[in-house]
Amino acid sequence: MTDPFRISNRASGIKASGIRKFFELGLSMKNPIDLSIGQAHFDVPDAVKQAAIDAINEGRNRYTVTQGIPPLREKLRERYARRFGNIDDCEPMVTSGVSGALMLSFLALLDPGDEILIPDPYFVMYRHLATMVGATARTYDIYPDFKPTATDIRDRITDKTRLIIVNSPSNPTGYALNEAEARELAQLADDTGIPLISDEIYEDFIYTERHVSPREFTRNCIVVSGASKSMGMPGWRIGWMLAPRELTERMYSLQQFSYVCAPAPLQWAALKGLDQDFSAHREEYRGKRDLVYEGLKDNYRIVKPGGAFYMFPYLPEGVDAERFMEACIKRELLVVPGAACSDKATNFRLCFAATDDKLKTAVDMLNDIAKELK
Ligand code: PMP
Repeated sequence: MTDPFRISNRASGIKASGIRKFFELGLSMKNPIDLSIGQAHFDVPDAVKQAAIDAINEGRNRYTVTQGIPPLREKLRERYARRFGNIDDCEPMVTSGVSGALMLSFLALLDPGDEILIPDPYFVMYRHLATMVGATARTYDIYPDFKPTATDIRDRITDKTRLIIVNSPSNPTGYALNEAEARELAQLADDTGIPLISDEIYEDFIYTERHVSPREFTRNCIVVSGASKSMGMPGWRIGWMLAPRELTERMYSLQQFSYVCAPAPLQWAALKGLDQDFSAHREEYRGKRDLVYEGLKDNYRIVKPGGAFYMFPYLPEGVDAERFMEACIKRELLVVPGAACSDKATNFRLCFAATDDKLKTAVDMLNDIAKELK
């Protein structure tokens, strides 16, 4: 008899996240130093929580229009128009997290057999979302300095390539594009006619001069971003995107017939959140980046992150990933093996969104590990 719950090829092609595995391992430890999961360590600001509570109490609990509540979309339009100039032919759309925005764009633009290009190392979801829609993710290698260049990408383009993903500041490397690099990527999109998806979820965590988006230099670009990281509300599932109007209208239908809308009261809360000043968090995280970078740089080769809250150090020379992870786990220190977000196993990801005390303990442990394994 055939298995009544035979798993689809689509689902069979998707493995559990290598990052989640470490998160779950952490739950079984008594007092781990957990630098594995990627979320800010601060809570939602009180004014934003109050806006959510007020929205619930005022009965804003029904479905919203699928594209998102008008005042939030208006606020997003103003923000993007300030950054990108004339966006009259584009439409902001509110989604269920940035994951929702990515999913909708993949569904709208990819057919089975199509290819997308993602950086290596990459945010794990890109690969799996491509698989879910029947497409294939091919990587462009950004080792050793994590700078995505048009040359790296151009070499990987085939006649099936339909999308190029860029992510700045990056998960897992923290690399942030400068203006010349963003211009080069924009030019690539214009030359090839292959659109970029620019994942800017970490745009508020920037330690360089400013956050630069390739969308400043080309209209051939979908921008996805959201409130999960910057407002400390990853569990609230609020994201958004800016894309050309005809494409957005397609995505309205896809969202309408899947998730319907982002959580209604939390859209009102995110609207409030967009008026808050989060720059203190940026400065705090810059300090954390410096603490960890300065603490580790004598024992680990590290590309100093220009943004986000991740670092992707190289394993010490001659040390293999398995021994390294075992040494971390023995100390109840949780980091992510590089292979969970890369085709290579030469690095590890640590998230420095943690208290300074925890970070100092982690730095001491990692330095001990480097000495022990040498
Ligand atoms: N893009 C990147 C680069 C991320 O790191 C994450 C979250 N880890 C997401 C998108 C998904 O964000 P959300 O929680 O808003 O769906």
